[in-house]
Amino acid sequence: MKETEKSEINEMLRLLPKVDWLMSLSDFQVLCEQYSRELVLSHIRRHLDGLRNDILKQKLSLPDRKRINRNDLAREILERTKYSIQPNVKPVINAGGIILNTGLGRAVLSQDARNALMRVAEGFSSIEIDLKSGKRGNRHDLVEQYLIDLTGAEAAAVVNNNAAATLLALNTLAQNREVIISRGELVTIGGSFRIPEVMKRSGAIMREVGTTNHTKLFDYERAISEDTALLLKVHTSNYKIIGFTSETPLEDLVALGQKYNLPVMHDLGSGSLLDLSQFGLPREPVVGESIRTGADIVTFSGDKLLGGPQAGIIVGKKRFIQAIKENQLARALRCGKLTFAALEATLRLYFDRERLIREHPVLRMMTKSDREISRAAVRLRNGLNKIVHSRGEVIIEKGLSEVGGGSLATESLPTKLVCMKLISMSAEKFSQKLRLSNPPVITRIVNDYVAFDVRTVLDNELKQIVEVVAKILNEKN
Ligand SMILES: *Cc1c(COP(=O)(O)O)cnc(C)c1O
Repeated sequence: MKETEKSEINEMLRLLPKVDWLMSLSDFQVLCEQYSRELVLSHIRRHLDGLRNDILKQKLSLPDRKRINRNDLAREILERTKYSIQPNVKPVINAGGIILNTGLGRAVLSQDARNALMRVAEGFSSIEIDLKSGKRGNRHDLVEQYLIDLTGAEAAAVVNNNAAATLLALNTLAQNREVIISRGELVTIGGSFRIPEVMKRSGAIMREVGTTNHTKLFDYERAISEDTALLLKVHTSNYKIIGFTSETPLEDLVALGQKYNLPVMHDLGSGSLLDLSQFGLPREPVVGESIRTGADIVTFSGDKLLGGPQAGIIVGKKRFIQAIKENQLARALRCGKLTFAALEATLRLYFDRERLIREHPVLRMMTKSDREISRAAVRLRNGLNKIVHSRGEVIIEKGLSEVGGGSLATESLPTKLVCMKLISMSAEKFSQKLRLSNPPVITRIVNDYVAFDVRTVLDNELKQIVEVVAKILNEKN
């Protein structure tokens, strides 16, 4: 390192403000009124350490390093503190157009589910007590009857997510024994759920049959031995194989299972409780259909098409579900009261079709009419035009939304995109500023425009988007 650089570093270190001085500044006092003093202190210390490190590693990029002064550093710490002190889990506006986005918390909950969450959060609750006898109850009983009614299954259990449901079912039914699965169904979901890995962790031995694009019933049959415990079918949620393909239908697997007295499990992933084609949407497997076809175990997520909280739902034959509930692993994978409260409210909504279509946010977003979407797009465009003036351009373009969550993988829903471009800023920079705003706004970039897909934007959020953009435009860049 050159001597000049060394002395520059020392000079900057010397300029680093002291905690007490920072705390005496009015900007930080305001923060102390809003948050607790201890919390502000802890964030300031963290950022001072960070700044010290940045200076030592010559990573600090402040304007005009030569003439930097203590106030510049104080302002830098203020900015960092203001940002970091906000809760880490906070609402964001999803203008990205993916309805079930794992990164954004998947399903938006219905009003009923939100109310149920609040009621249960406020005090004690009947999560595991039999109120009649006063004895210890069973949390699985809380929603089991609803799931039986809605799917036609004999019994049901609920765990932390569908990955847990799959793990638990495989461990219960097939530990140290073989599970036969088609090579065309060895899916990866979202990077961390991979069927072969889950299988290994469950203690089951994977017996893959057929080929990627072609698996016939006799492939399964030839693989059956006395070590076989289970036939597994996995819905290839997030991809589709086209061309020369053959997949063995569940029906045939069920018949094979009956012939050899082997249970059949169907991992549906999303698993809808309704046939979506009645709304003009592409078909997605329906849980009740798998049960009617004869699957012994069906697993699916609570927060994909079902539209509830994160959960994994297992429905099927009573004796298997009973064994699953009694598995020691079930305790480690169980859900808490908040999940059960929101899930129960979500499931109850399915008993009132009219309210379901009106109030189930996932269904609502999927079934928005062209008119509704166009109207929202025009509202947003007009709002943005009012503040942009000559600093950029706002246009409406046709586009496509996605259901996401591994549902309707190859299908898209036509939508309208409000596309915005600024003269002073690249689309990447603009979209980053939107993400770092309060509330954060998630967008995508289409042909160098920042695109707001109004399908996934809630009505009251259109105004908020305009406010966020106005704030960005008013910053001095
Ligand atoms: C999404 C999915 C999973 C994982 O479900 P999580 O609820 O995310 O744990 C497992 N299997 C399939 C087929 C899926 O689509």
